[in-house]
Amino acid sequence: YSPIHIIGGGLAGSEAAWQIAEAGISVILHEMRGVRGTDAHKTEDLAELVCSNSFRSDDATSNAVGVIHAEMRLANSLIMACADKHQVPAGGALAVDRDGFSAAVTAAIENHPLIEVSREEIRGLPPKEWDLSIVATGPLTSPDLAAAIQAETGADALAFFDAIAPIVHRDSINMDICWYQSRYDKVGPGGTGRDYINCPLDETQYHAFIDALIAGDTVGFKEWEGTPYFDGCLPIEVMAERGRETLRHGPMKPMGLTNSHNPTVKAYAVVQLRQDNALGTLYNMVGFQTKLKYGAQADIFRMIPGLENAEFARLGGLHRNTYINSPTLLDRSLTLKTRPGLRFAGQITGCEGYVESASIGLLAGRFAAAERKGETIPLPPATTALGSLLGHITGGHLVSDEEPGKRSFQPMNINFGLFPELEPGSIVKPDGVKRFRGKDKTIMKRQLISKRALADCARWLGKA
Ligand code: FAD
Repeated sequence: YSPIHIIGGGLAGSEAAWQIAEAGISVILHEMRGVRGTDAHKTEDLAELVCSNSFRSDDATSNAVGVIHAEMRLANSLIMACADKHQVPAGGALAVDRDGFSAAVTAAIENHPLIEVSREEIRGLPPKEWDLSIVATGPLTSPDLAAAIQAETGADALAFFDAIAPIVHRDSINMDICWYQSRYDKVGPGGTGRDYINCPLDETQYHAFIDALIAGDTVGFKEWEGTPYFDGCLPIEVMAERGRETLRHGPMKPMGLTNSHNPTVKAYAVVQLRQDNALGTLYNMVGFQTKLKYGAQADIFRMIPGLENAEFARLGGLHRNTYINSPTLLDRSLTLKTRPGLRFAGQITGCEGYVESASIGLLAGRFAAAERKGETIPLPPATTALGSLLGHITGGHLVSDEEPGKRSFQPMNINFGLFPELEPGSIVKPDGVKRFRGKDKTIMKRQLISKRALADCARWLGKA
């Protein structure tokens, strides 16, 4: 078989390369880092995590992200295998040592006999002689390639900013004020129920902090003003502007936490920090993405009790995101309708997050490998997490069959809202249970959707 070309060695491109090579087909993976950097990547490693070190919940029984983890593991995912190998304690979440993780992906790709890594920037669409190719250049696609995509598609490739959260040196955190505890003492694999560092704020401190956030100097970005943020990645100062209590009900919620220094006094709000590296020397401020100027950030974050002497390994920042209008442009197997043989994968297709991007890389790789072999593989069932995310990207926004993609298309994390409903009558009160409340029904619904997804995914992969 002649090789399949992949542009971009991030989460999606690395996973796609692995899937294709494991199917017995050679791959040339073109990655520009080493020759040209991006605004967010710091290393030349493949699959670098540019912000948080978390792959989010690993609960496959009732959480949509945990379900997609489990499906990817069933499908021999390289990204999940390396994440599992480099896990750090994080309650019920799957968080990784970022350097160990990316080094492991890089080694697996570079050592695979069917994969060649070519360090170069591809500045236009794949040439015709690359009959099968995948563009997986992510939210920070280089400008020349982005312009070429725009010229080919004729549709608007929307670009806007995300914000990233600061990372603090552990030994600069005042543990006479802060304490270790996971919310509700949740214990994950390798964890202790004490995986997070918590900083308590009383009511006065909270309001002073909110005032400072709102007054803080932000990085100006006039040319992008009015562009939307991903809802899961709102800068904290934008959240604070939306209402004084918003943060207290979001990343600063105090629920499930008891201050070990002062157990009888409930904190009004809590800032949580999560372990960021295997050594446990760095902690990131959970949910604290920001576009505040660097000087303002250090001053404002040192107002948080316990962080008064915080040393920052990295401050938060602002970055661009690029994605295409996939429901209009791509067919169900992620192929650009105007260019047979050219697929898109990863965040550029309009999914959001490390895991989601890798999962779309996994699918694009499998589809391309099948096409090279002259086979067709069925799409993952819509009831699976992989199928529901693919449905969101390639067709989830159909207003009607006649008007594909008419409604506006927004990037999305995997969530239960993307899965088809259960058969009517699936949710029944268990025997012996007296009160079966709305909350219990929601939990049961999630459990049943998760179970159905994993069973259907195993069948799709011939592993049932
Ligand atoms: P990437 O992982 O970015 O990989 C794309 C690769 O393509 C890069 O290696 C790049 O160098 C290369 N490339 C680009 N153009 C070219 C070219 N012309 N030629 C050759 N190579 C090229 N997700 C989360 O889950 N959690 C977070 O906390 C989080 N924070 C983020 C913060 C920021 C600032 C940004 C920008 C994104 C964040 N994301 C986060 C999203 C996450 O980074 C992406 O979902 C994920 O990395 C996308 O994977 P990908 O493979 O599509 O793109």
